[in-house]
Amino acid sequence: MNAVTIIAGMNTSSLPRIAVLATGGTIAGQAGDASNTTGYKAGVVGVDKLLDAVPGLSSVARIHAEQIASIDSKDMSPALWTQLVLRVNALLAQDDIDGVVITHGTDTLEETAYLLHLTVKSAKPVVLTAAMRPSSALSADGPLNLLNAVTVAASKDAAGQGVLVAFNNQIHSARDVTKTNTYAVDAFRSPETGVLGFVQDGRFEFQRGIVRPHTMKSEFAIVENWPMVGIVASYVGVLRVGIDALVKAGVAGIVVAGTGNGSMHATLTQALADAAKQGIAVVRSSRVGSGHVMRNGAASDDALGTVSAGTLNPYKARVLLMLALAANAQDLQRVFDTY
Ligand code: ASP
Repeated sequence: MNAVTIIAGMNTSSLPRIAVLATGGTIAGQAGDASNTTGYKAGVVGVDKLLDAVPGLSSVARIHAEQIASIDSKDMSPALWTQLVLRVNALLAQDDIDGVVITHGTDTLEETAYLLHLTVKSAKPVVLTAAMRPSSALSADGPLNLLNAVTVAASKDAAGQGVLVAFNNQIHSARDVTKTNTYAVDAFRSPETGVLGFVQDGRFEFQRGIVRPHTMKSEFAIVENWPMVGIVASYVGVLRVGIDALVKAGVAGIVVAGTGNGSMHATLTQALADAAKQGIAVVRSSRVGSGHVMRNGAASDDALGTVSAGTLNPYKARVLLMLALAANAQDLQRVFDTY
């Protein structure tokens, strides 16, 4: 972690004090010229510069900034997850911090956000944001996204709502949000549930609440020793070699990105039956991108002990499975039905 920066608010010590933790991503990306929005390097611009590019920030909050990492989020690691969550929890435990904003790459934002949703131990607001265009681009989206994220984090209304994602004027729940576009600035959706609310021109409003437990009510805590969990997809002509390789590598769990309602090619079902015999946990999600994966009875859930992921996509299902295995949770279907 780099040195801490304090940017004073506009003469007013009554403004909320928000910690901005930077991890890299396109929001901190830089290209050789302003028309270049794809051939850039992510995670090279420091948090001070990101904050300097946001006019009006100092009239929304007093900012405490930290550079946690400078990575492209495709390279996010469980070890960095642990470091990030520990730092977020430590900051939120301080009386002089009212909320946290995390800048992150868009590629794995949904995984980090869901992890935080389940392991942050505070009701104070935690808001992730990002950008689809590098900081050097014409019409870079990062500065407005950052201003909106701080606006949400600085509001008492955002407390107790779990971890939020502020992006393109929308507010999403960390549980439901997923990246759905490779280049557009409107890159995030919550397919089954829709947005939680909106933030624009300094105002934000929630349209709905969330009912599943998170943060203070989550039974999970951040871990240092992550169990290994892999993802395999089912598709036409799939071979069992992917599952067999994961088993050989010593995974504790496997998530299947199944076809349709979490169904699997017969070849995979056989390989997973063999994996299940060795005590490897298997969760069925779907490659479809929206919808609910129901329990499939005798097809595999009752017969082999596989678990249905409900509305969690394969990447979020993997986060929950890792936490559940680390916590030695006995009834994995209960865990997936609860969170
Ligand atoms: N590759 C980038 C990242 O995830 C993409 C982005 O931030 O939009 O770090």
